[in-house]
Amino acid sequence: MARLRPCIIVHVHEISLKGGNRPRFLRQLARNLARATADLPPVAVIRRPGRLLLDLERHEKPEAVLPRIARVAGVANFALAYRVGSTVEAMKAVIARLIEGREFESFRITARRAFKSYPLTSVELNRELGAFVLGRARTRVDLERPALTITVEVLPDQTFVYLDRQPGPGGLPVGSSGSVAALLSGGIDSPVAAWRMMRRGCPVVFVHFHSAPYLSATSQAKARALVDRLTEWQYHSRLYLVPFGEIQREVVLATPAAVRVVAYRRLMVRIAEALARVEGALALATGESLGQVASQTLENISRIDEVAALPILRPLIGMDKLEIVADARRLGTFDISIEPDQDCCSLFVPPHPATRLGADEVARLEARLDVGRLVQAGVDGAACETSDWPVSVAPAAPPGPEPRAG
Ligand code: ATP
Ligand code: MG
Repeated sequence: MARLRPCIIVHVHEISLKGGNRPRFLRQLARNLARATADLPPVAVIRRPGRLLLDLERHEKPEAVLPRIARVAGVANFALAYRVGSTVEAMKAVIARLIEGREFESFRITARRAFKSYPLTSVELNRELGAFVLGRARTRVDLERPALTITVEVLPDQTFVYLDRQPGPGGLPVGSSGSVAALLSGGIDSPVAAWRMMRRGCPVVFVHFHSAPYLSATSQAKARALVDRLTEWQYHSRLYLVPFGEIQREVVLATPAAVRVVAYRRLMVRIAEALARVEGALALATGESLGQVASQTLENISRIDEVAALPILRPLIGMDKLEIVADARRLGTFDISIEPDQDCCSLFVPPHPATRLGADEVARLEARLDVGRLVQAGVDGAACETSDWPVSVAPAAPPGPEPRAG
């Protein structure tokens, strides 16, 4: 019996690939697929028209690679496929192997020809291969709701046959957009926000503010654990841990309790922006969702935006808590986020913060602080850590201009 030749076939959403970005997108996706499987050799990533292939022919456990692909942004769907020559006999032989011992009350064949000069049309292929399956299994054809779909993709030099296609995360490959500095608390929302930016192609640099030694170091441990989990989506991360307790103490001495949350946030944003510039990040991102807590009113969000020159992206702004929690569970950040910690924002904060601070009022109160010095202290005190997944590799060359064609 012929040896099965496994590979993973990866499709991208055509609609997200319009225009001149397409080659760059595919190059980045191929690079990320290789990074995501770097510890599972041999996996060669091969570009084919309209799809990417991970060659697993000499791989010990091809199935083990699948969960990795499920976390690569830019993948629309993927399947463990088998390669055969583009003859009907070869297709039948591999279909026979794949359905052997499998029970399915209904099925359909979905044949696609990526080139139209193939001697059989898709309809003819569907019919021929369908009749073959009916001759070998007790089943029936159901085009609408089949229990099993057998997909056959015919390329000029070879054909891919597969059974179970899984959805990928969609989005854009990390590295195809500019980078973003995400403000990461130990809460549920900000890790989801960071991930949503990654899924739009942005490499994320993380900034966490902690109040050690005023509070315990648990929030830092949570931030590290969250970054480790999120690094599964971008392979290399940098996390800035910023000491904020001393800064908060000065804010407390100078401002009434009701404005402190906004005052803290404005200082955080200024410090994060300075770090973002060091990192070459083009925007900040936070986990704010409109109206979720007192500090997240449109008025207070305006007070926070006023101090930043870079755009502050808030990918969760229109989501409700249930949707955010569902994302966090899928990502595996939820269980980390709900661990008890001592978040810096719980320090010196009143139970009823002001919900509608005016610009003049905040600016007047802030004038009592030496903002420049506080920001500089945060930046100078920041400690940078790195996280790598699944393996540590030499830092990639900085993103240069695209090589010219020709
Ligand atoms: P989260 O669940 O992300 O903590 P939240 O709903 O608790 O969000 P806030 O506490 O108001 O909301 O924080 C709003 C945003 O400010 C957070 O999503 C995060 O981006 C940022 N932020 C808050 N605290 C910190 C911190 N200690 N370090 C870094 N960023 C923070
Ligand atoms: Mg929080």
